[in-house]
Amino acid sequence: MRNLSLRTMMIVAITMAAGAGAARGQSGAQVQAVTVIRAGTLIDGISDTPRKNQLIFVRGERIEKVTGAYEPIPAGAKVIDLSNATALPGLIDSHTHIFLWGEDPNKGGYDANILNAGIALRAARATYAVRRALEQGFVALRDLETEGAGYGDIEIKQAIEEGTIPGPRIFGATRAISTTGGYNLEGYAPELVMPKGAQIVDGPVEARKAAREQLEHGADWIKVYMTHRSWVDKQGNLVSQPTLTVEELKAIVDETHGWQKKVACHAYNGIGLQRALDGGCDSIEHGLEMTDAQIAQMKSQGTWYCPTLSPYYDDWAPADTPGGKRDRARAAVHEITFKKALQAHLKIVFGTDMGGIPWTEPIAQEFKRMVGLGMAPMDAIQSATSRAADMLEMKGEIGAIAPGAYAEVIAVSGDPLKDVGELEHVRFVMHNGSVFKNELAK
Ligand SMILES: [Zn+2]
Repeated sequence: MRNLSLRTMMIVAITMAAGAGAARGQSGAQVQAVTVIRAGTLIDGISDTPRKNQLIFVRGERIEKVTGAYEPIPAGAKVIDLSNATALPGLIDSHTHIFLWGEDPNKGGYDANILNAGIALRAARATYAVRRALEQGFVALRDLETEGAGYGDIEIKQAIEEGTIPGPRIFGATRAISTTGGYNLEGYAPELVMPKGAQIVDGPVEARKAAREQLEHGADWIKVYMTHRSWVDKQGNLVSQPTLTVEELKAIVDETHGWQKKVACHAYNGIGLQRALDGGCDSIEHGLEMTDAQIAQMKSQGTWYCPTLSPYYDDWAPADTPGGKRDRARAAVHEITFKKALQAHLKIVFGTDMGGIPWTEPIAQEFKRMVGLGMAPMDAIQSATSRAADMLEMKGEIGAIAPGAYAEVIAVSGDPLKDVGELEHVRFVMHNGSVFKNELAK
């Protein structure tokens, strides 16, 4: 530009501005077009009963109104016919790891994720993961830690938001926080300085500093590991090693709440779970074994419960080994706790720990686990829609088919209230008002 005259530069600037204005005008015109979805059955994510023969009016990225089939359809409106299907709000998985590529011991387990894959390979896999999620009707993920891939989740989120790659809304936790002796990689020669899957802190000052760093670099949530190893003791009880102290966690929670963000705590049971509750965490992740008193404390503190049942049925070690005993004990106590949490009406949100489970597997498998343990199908659907949206401070914006919400609409052929496994076969996906997948309508 240095060689251009001032006059030429002004003309260039004016032309560029006019071009930008024209582009805005064009996209503005597109935004005005109305799309009407005919839903044979509508589960709106909020009400407890489905409605028949509904029309969903979509303008731009948002839902304008939802009416009965009597409402006239304006001339020129695009009509999407899902009259033989069940429409639902796009689903929300509140516990994923887009940067994790399975933990199958035969493929090197967790460690291979970090030791055998550079950052570009990991980013390519994360790109695959987010696309897979959207294809299966998951339009939002709370991604709870990149497992050694730094702030990659926030960058994948950026790539999605700028339209470079397809994917759901991401609520990223970035690096996660644990203590010395509280995270992988471990079990190597002590002389070796091994990379860790989480940011390691000791003491409230370091804990607060880690939270500040992560929040500075865009963390939407802070993830803290309150327990790490687990084993079965001589009496047959599941024991888990606590990590952060209450003081360390309180420093993180205080800092994070000041930024108006929330703290998710991985906690299996025992001392670590108690510290998570006493330290004021906002959501308990996994919560394999919770006492009645702990459930009552969660109830009174309004703590969210994200159980992630599915991963505890994978990759069991042989029954007669310490690892095998632990694996079986984890699933056994988890079932009891989940049923108690249901009875107590804890705020349960759908989460899978995908990434720990390979991304090639169906995300919606968790629905069958939840319903199999006594949760009503509609309750399970709400745990992955309006209830999760509430936890993510997105109430009325996502997880609902209602006026003003983002147009996140999915559809299945059958009735998910009769067979919740239908949700493993999502045939139509609209994301932010645009059709991403359509195997149903012409
Ligand atoms: Zn996890």
